[in-house]
Amino acid sequence: MRLPVCWSCQYKFKWSELLFVIEGRKTCPLCSAKQYVTSHSKWLQGWAFIPLILFYWITVMFTLNVSFPVYLVIGLLYFGAYWFLILPYQYEFTDEKQQLV
Ligand SMILES: [Zn+2]
Repeated sequence: MRLPVCWSCQYKFKWSELLFVIEGRKTCPLCSAKQYVTSHSKWLQGWAFIPLILFYWITVMFTLNVSFPVYLVIGLLYFGAYWFLILPYQYEFTDEKQQLV
């Protein structure tokens, strides 16, 4: 896993810059070129979500005697891990907006 680069100047994005990519768009801090998330990387992000749900389901299966708020917290932890540890590494940027097909 590696962090994405700017399609124009090859600037390597920092992890913290990738936590909030609004509507699949980002601007390069170095050359100000607009970055669009490729549909390929959107697919990767979608697929990365599936094991997350599976892990959550397995956790729930093995911890049947805890209360609902605990499940909620566990769910948030998994989602947080996905958001902070997986998403930033799944981005790929291109110069034009792509359709998700
Ligand atoms: Zn750039």
